Amino acid sequence: MKLLTLTKISIISLMIVGFIFSISTYNYDREVNRIISSNKVVMITFDDGPSACADEKILDVLDKYDVKATFFMTGINLSKYVNNTSIKKVVDRMIQGGHSIGNHSYYHNEYINNQVQLVKELNDVNDMIKHVYNENGKKIESKDIPIRMPYLQYYRGLGYVQKKVANPYWVRGYLGTDYLEEKTGKEEILNQYFSHLRNGQIFVAHTRDYAKVWLPEFLETLLKHGYAFANFTKDTPSYYLNYGKLGS
Ligand SMILES: [Zn+2]
Repeated sequence: MKLLTLTKISIISLMIVGFIFSISTYNYDREVNRIISSNKVVMITFDDGPSACADEKILDVLDKYDVKATFFMTGINLSKYVNNTSIKKVVDRMIQGGHSIGNHSYYHNEYINNQVQLVKELNDVNDMIKHVYNENGKKIESKDIPIRMPYLQYYRGLGYVQKKVANPYWVRGYLGTDYLEEKTGKEEILNQYFSHLRNGQIFVAHTRDYAKVWLPEFLETLLKHGYAFANFTKDTPSYYLNYGKLGS
């Protein structure tokens, strides 16, 4: 009986120590999944660009419906901005059009065993993004650049990374299978997205030519049902804070 009580006490003590340890180390809480809003609003995001060809097509569709989106770019692709005129043109078009640019790491690797490298990449890509805004006569601070981790990876070690970089938000959202377009097809891509429609939803899509096939119907349907589209561009009607805060 006594032994049992002691065992119980030890287990409870271990749980308390474990809990304290977990709250002291488990402090990466900046991941967000939606805008907390009772309004009909969504975010549309495109990962892995910039790509001159695919992004021009995506921008044509977005502009046609006057929808503002967010493009999470890798540094390796954005580095072409400096000497590739079509990349420069498409990125400038995004910024001038009021779309937002986010940080998607430099090399798009898995970083679970390489936090120091990840910090460096995120800071480098922040600097590149600041540069392209600057080229367009606009200023942006790191804290206003959203981050999306490649492969939406999220793990305990990110707490260290989040302390080291200034960006407040790690943006997830609903990932359909638009990147498997040959297999999935337009109908299934739309079904997946629409079955996860909710106020404040963040949709994860990709910078791919196939977006021109499913995106028009997606936007048309959302607009018909009264949805607005938010992004991260401050001082514009589409800025997410006009609708609510970000949360999980
Ligand atoms: Zn990606």
